[in-house]
Amino acid sequence: MTESSSLTTAPQWQGNSQGTGSRAASNVAHYPGGSQRGVFSDVDQAVASAKAAQKSLARRSLAQRKRICELIMEICKDQAKELGRMEYEETGIGHPDHKPEKIRNVSDSALGVEYLSSECFSGDHGITVEEHAPWGVIGIVTPVTHSLPTLANNAINMIAAGNSLVCNPHPGGKKIAAYGAGLFNEAIHRETGIDNLICVIKEPTLDSANRIFTHPDVNLLGITGGPGVVAAALKSGKRAICAGPGNPPVVVDSSADIDNAANCIIEGASYDNNLLCLSEKETFVEASIFEKFMTALERAGAVRLSSQQMDRLAEICLVKGNDGHWAAKKEYVGAETRVIARLIGVSVPAECRMLFGETGPEHPWVMAEQMMPVMPVTKAPSFQKAVEFAKKAEHGFKHTAVIHSRLVDHMTHMGKELDTTLYIKNGPSLAGNGAGGEGYGGWSIACGTGEGIATPMTYTRLRRCSMIDNLRIL
Ligand code: NAD
Repeated sequence: MTESSSLTTAPQWQGNSQGTGSRAASNVAHYPGGSQRGVFSDVDQAVASAKAAQKSLARRSLAQRKRICELIMEICKDQAKELGRMEYEETGIGHPDHKPEKIRNVSDSALGVEYLSSECFSGDHGITVEEHAPWGVIGIVTPVTHSLPTLANNAINMIAAGNSLVCNPHPGGKKIAAYGAGLFNEAIHRETGIDNLICVIKEPTLDSANRIFTHPDVNLLGITGGPGVVAAALKSGKRAICAGPGNPPVVVDSSADIDNAANCIIEGASYDNNLLCLSEKETFVEASIFEKFMTALERAGAVRLSSQQMDRLAEICLVKGNDGHWAAKKEYVGAETRVIARLIGVSVPAECRMLFGETGPEHPWVMAEQMMPVMPVTKAPSFQKAVEFAKKAEHGFKHTAVIHSRLVDHMTHMGKELDTTLYIKNGPSLAGNGAGGEGYGGWSIACGTGEGIATPMTYTRLRRCSMIDNLRIL
């Protein structure tokens, strides 16, 4: 059932649906020969193949599941450079140096079958074991901002838990998703004989997404994307684990280590040109240290724009949607600082990673999930007011918030007020997702539906097995 044409024979790189136009390369000929194992034009065929693959996986040992996860990790590690280049060429967004890092991160941060646990209850009436079982076939949607990292990370978590998956990738990252799935499936098939564990829709559309959402043989949804796709999945009637949008605010209070705050904010907000959902997107600073903080940002290499220039850029790069919310214009998402600065006739050094400027607390740059390396900085008359502004800017997504402070009371107050899934103190946002902080990381942070950073356990259902009045050996 698998289609077997090679990507090397694909006629053209088509422009991506982000509208990045000339930012996306137009040549697929650089793709080395790729299997299209697991790549389907038809949703029904993809789901049927994933269902057969999952049945086959269910008969295998945990050691084999572990090996399958390792195969995906090995490909992400060994081919990160090439895969990262391909993803950059297709999507045309973000920073080229960060694309391989993101793919390598999948193998560095992966959790496998070891992460699955079971619980046991033992007493006079025998023994009961609760185990975390697979759902079966999981329908997933991946974002254009990290097409292959999300697919690979989801695949490891879902397969470790005993599932197979069918992916409707973002059209702007569909080729790298299909190519990556081909590599993974080929390696898995070679070692285990299982085919099509990771199925990808070749020409993804809203219609194919909805067919996956409503397919009777898709048992669970795992969604990573913006508000539209999350809302659609939640309406499907199936259980959906949704890694939705964020607009992470930062508060810098008067006790903070100002230089550390400036460096951390630049590190987090400029990573892959601010494409990450958890990246710092707006900063609120207590008035008493405001100018010192702005100077620290400049000292750390960011380029300051005037408030008028921030206004002018907002008119060009942001748009108010029909829902009344400010959003990024697709053509500027993930653009380099020099490209954005040039829009208002400013030239910046090649090494500049972030632009910033003073704005009001409800400026479009503050309210939009801009996904650009442009940081609005707002002066707050007090710490409490800064937290109030931050809460409004976060829009209740419950995704990520950051504070720079030496005061535990302040950290506690903001943590309680914003109630976000990730809350980072005195570090870059990335450190809250394992990169430079303690704990595991992942590529789907389920904030709205509450599962947190997805792990293999996220994609399991609880089953109970009870032996009555026996087997207890005490
Ligand atoms: P997007 O929402 O534009 O697209 C994601 C996917 O959903 C695409 O495949 C798109 O075609 C599809 N889609 C959109 N509306 C749909 C609908 N109504 N029905 C069915 N499918 C639909 O997002 P994007 O630009 O690819 O990614 C950026 C967004 O994803 C940001 O909002 C970011 O915060 C979020 N994101 C969240 C996480 C997380 O872990 N929480 C991770 C990455 C990205």
